[in-house]
Amino acid sequence: MAIESVSKKELRIILGNIVATLDREKQCLSQLDSYIGDGDHGFGIANGFRIGFEKVSQLDGGSIAEYLRTIGLSLVKGTAGASGTLFGSLFLGMAEAAQGHEHLGLSNLCRMFAEGLVQVKRRGKAESGDKTMLDALNPLVVSLRQSLTEGLSLAEACQRAAIAARKGAEETKNMIAKHGRAKYFREKSIGYQDAGATTIALMIESLAQSVVTLDRTS
Ligand code: ADP
Ligand code: MG
Repeated sequence: MAIESVSKKELRIILGNIVATLDREKQCLSQLDSYIGDGDHGFGIANGFRIGFEKVSQLDGGSIAEYLRTIGLSLVKGTAGASGTLFGSLFLGMAEAAQGHEHLGLSNLCRMFAEGLVQVKRRGKAESGDKTMLDALNPLVVSLRQSLTEGLSLAEACQRAAIAARKGAEETKNMIAKHGRAKYFREKSIGYQDAGATTIALMIESLAQSVVTLDRTS
């Protein structure tokens, strides 16, 4: 039977799976950042997310919004570099949109990512095509909205969004960086995939995989 929403308990599982994914991929992510940056992205984001998840695990009770806010604040405080603030803004934005919800269905998820996107844009002042995490986040949100209109299941929508985010991340190879440390490489940044966009793709791929697994076991 297809699950149509994610509970608080299931969100913990999803967040734990993202921790494992980032831990597995941190070396590759830092390598991407080393070509057109300082090589800290993967280790930083994996560390900040792990600390956030540990705090979530220690919470007695707490709401979905509180889980997301805890991750967001840990990313802001525990991750050195620009992406700590930016990924923190993403999760703080998602927390705002999740306020008052005990289950996350597709429409909630869509609103959460859309609000996260708004916060990242507000904080980082980047636009689509600037070779940042937005180039994966934007197509992810567009895809979720489209799936909502088409009435797709939660699992189908997450899988589609993961494909859109991965494609967006891969397309950053053709872009010239306009923000962060990568901008100093100008045209020389062409050919390299943006690390932050790759992290967004990994996160939604992990989420999609988790929802598919929850589907199978429900
Ligand atoms: P730092 O550049 O401080 O070392 P990280 O290496 O952790 O930070 O993160 C770099 C990533 O941050 C980039 O790959 C890019 O996706 C993202 N990024 C940088 N600047 C911005 C911005 N202004 N808006 C959105 N994302 C950004
Ligand atoms: Mg860096």
